Amino acid sequence: MATTDIDGDYRTNNVTVALSKQIVNGPKMRELIARMVTKVGQGLTDGTLAGFPLLQSQYAADPARFMGLVFGAISDFCFNMEYVRRITDARWSYCTKAGDHRVYYPYLGVCPHCVLKGNRPVEAVLGANALVGEEERESRARYFGNKIESHHVGRIGERVIVYILDLLIKSKFPDATSLLVFDDQHDVDAAFFFEGLGIITQIKASPLILLPVMSVMNAPMTEGVSGETGLPLQKRDHTFAGFTSSDHELNLYFSTDDTFLPIGKRSGQDWPYAPLIGALDQASVFKIINNWLTIYMAFEVPKRLRTGDDKKKAWLTSGWGAPIDDNKTKAGLARSDNMMKGTYASLKYGAYYVQECQRRTLKTALVANIDPVHQYADYLEKLEDIRWAHNKDFKPNQNGDETASYTIAKDRLTFLFDSVFTFNRQIMNDPVLADAWDLGGFIKKLIDGSATKTLDSWSGYSAA
Ligand SMILES: [Zn+2]
Repeated sequence: MATTDIDGDYRTNNVTVALSKQIVNGPKMRELIARMVTKVGQGLTDGTLAGFPLLQSQYAADPARFMGLVFGAISDFCFNMEYVRRITDARWSYCTKAGDHRVYYPYLGVCPHCVLKGNRPVEAVLGANALVGEEERESRARYFGNKIESHHVGRIGERVIVYILDLLIKSKFPDATSLLVFDDQHDVDAAFFFEGLGIITQIKASPLILLPVMSVMNAPMTEGVSGETGLPLQKRDHTFAGFTSSDHELNLYFSTDDTFLPIGKRSGQDWPYAPLIGALDQASVFKIINNWLTIYMAFEVPKRLRTGDDKKKAWLTSGWGAPIDDNKTKAGLARSDNMMKGTYASLKYGAYYVQECQRRTLKTALVANIDPVHQYADYLEKLEDIRWAHNKDFKPNQNGDETASYTIAKDRLTFLFDSVFTFNRQIMNDPVLADAWDLGGFIKKLIDGSATKTLDSWSGYSAA
């Protein structure tokens, strides 16, 4: 079995893997998380929060829930960095509707600018309104944005989640050990050890909201020439273009307010983490979180109850379905496949590890960035407090009457999930886990400064 500590990347013979061969830039991702969390802590008390009424109201209503949603936004932003590391020079989309000449590298099958400006998302569909050939039409029919392989999404998600859980645990138990399992054949994704306990974890994470890359050009793009004059014709909006991304200044684009955040030219192995980490101040971190929360809250409203702008904002989430996105890319446990696999894994951990453990020191958790949201009542609500046992452990009760009730030793009963931990909802059946992953406790420590030790060791700079 190959495992990694959560910072480096090793193989069984202890050989360190070169960063260029690793799926995730772990050290930089961890530094980014530390930077963002530190800036949130500072911004809550230095007046930055007052500039973001939505964040302020959420924080005032429930600090623990607010902290969870902040982690939801930060984890998507980490996914975003890894998506940006994978952009290519093919399949950028051209648009002049914002009044200049832009190309976008979209992760959804729509123009990131026009999806919110048009009346219907179909008006922003990429490639559809062009006079295209048969081959392009074929390929358009399957195009839901520039995706990355689901295997890579899974590996990235495991890393993001393990870092954030490690941060929560270490703010309480500094000597805790976190372990990410790296082997595709193994059924445990991560394990956490503290206070004499081991938490075996199944992770199902995939992004909900991503910011596409955008670049503004000095002149219109052209394609073909006029039959009449022989002069070049301006390229049509919402057609695909090749774009030499390493020659241009790039940005992350916010569809909600048509603004952007510079990430510089593609350069060096730590791009885009390095330029972003250097540039992120309180205001930009709060802007990223505010954008995420604006879209998340539109998404959280059940589809038929959404009104006005919320209808359009929800289009910006993963897994919407045609014509915007493939519905197999729904985030976290919102994808029913993930819910089903995660539930089986938890049951298996219980039967193969928890019940077999002589010292009764193992616990199980299903962890994802996002819970089933609209499907929560259908998929999870009636499972969340289930406890089970093997048939042999049910003993006749004291009267010897098996028809009415059984007696069972407490330690022979196992929760299906000791926890289902997601950033937007936490089911905590086990009190030790509820304490270790306590978001309300963490945000208090963030504000009073006692959570900064781990953050500083990750970021290499002092918050002071
Ligand atoms: Zn457009």
